Amino acid sequence: MCVPGCQRTILSRLSRRALLKGAGGAGLAGLGAFAATLPAAAGGEGKGEIEPALAAGNRVQDLTHTLSPDFPTFFGTPGIEKEPLYSWSPDKFNAYMWHVLEHCGTHLDAPLHFTADGPAAADIPAASLVLPLAVIDIRDKAAANSDYQLTPDDVLAWEGVHGALPPRACVAMYSGWEEHIGGNRYRNADQEGLLHFPGFHPETADLLMSERDAMAIAVDTLSLDAGISTGFDTHYKWLPSGRYGLESVANLGAVPASGATLIVGAPKVAGASGGPTRLLALY
Ligand SMILES: [Zn+2]
Repeated sequence: MCVPGCQRTILSRLSRRALLKGAGGAGLAGLGAFAATLPAAAGGEGKGEIEPALAAGNRVQDLTHTLSPDFPTFFGTPGIEKEPLYSWSPDKFNAYMWHVLEHCGTHLDAPLHFTADGPAAADIPAASLVLPLAVIDIRDKAAANSDYQLTPDDVLAWEGVHGALPPRACVAMYSGWEEHIGGNRYRNADQEGLLHFPGFHPETADLLMSERDAMAIAVDTLSLDAGISTGFDTHYKWLPSGRYGLESVANLGAVPASGATLIVGAPKVAGASGGPTRLLALY
């Protein structure tokens, strides 16, 4: 909470810092630019005030969908229910009990999701939750083929434009599929119940693990594997390696293809195989 006048104080401090740091920070990209602002922001000027850590000119993009019972899930059942425990009338405060499917909305797949006893969501180190973001645009291919799988060649084409993938990156598939969220096409089930939406080809998982040292893969669809997959080969390759996945990511078209830093607000729930996650991109 910000007391009256506090916001003005923060803004004036922010603009003063921007002046001081503008020259030095301008050439930095991604995490470096933000790390450069953090020591000053945490350095004690504030005495109890929460100050923005972002230098002027840096932007925050929410990559998270709003979660509601209507949001489509892989399983086709509602992902969250809210049960009122206390209500404003008559209790004069609100509190709900949530019943949540771990894999709904914008969410994380922990290694435990596809292993017997791999790391759970709470076990992912904080240092692995802040990472460079690479966005691979396959919208044209996905529009032409609902079953398209992002290939190693798509990664190589991205690198041809943007340079080598940075190590420990999150590599995101931008298929444009989120435009279908309001209708049946997001799951795109056929008459046999088979789903049809894009995902990562298992060979791409191999490439990103063995030759690029990526930390995470992300999709704007319901699954790391294409919907048509019944063997979940990408899940079974990627998650047992100790890496994690992000599904139903939002707004990938609003961030640069290269140079953004992703902050993964993973749920710190003991033993969780995943869970709804707040994703923020800084650039
Ligand atoms: Zn999942």
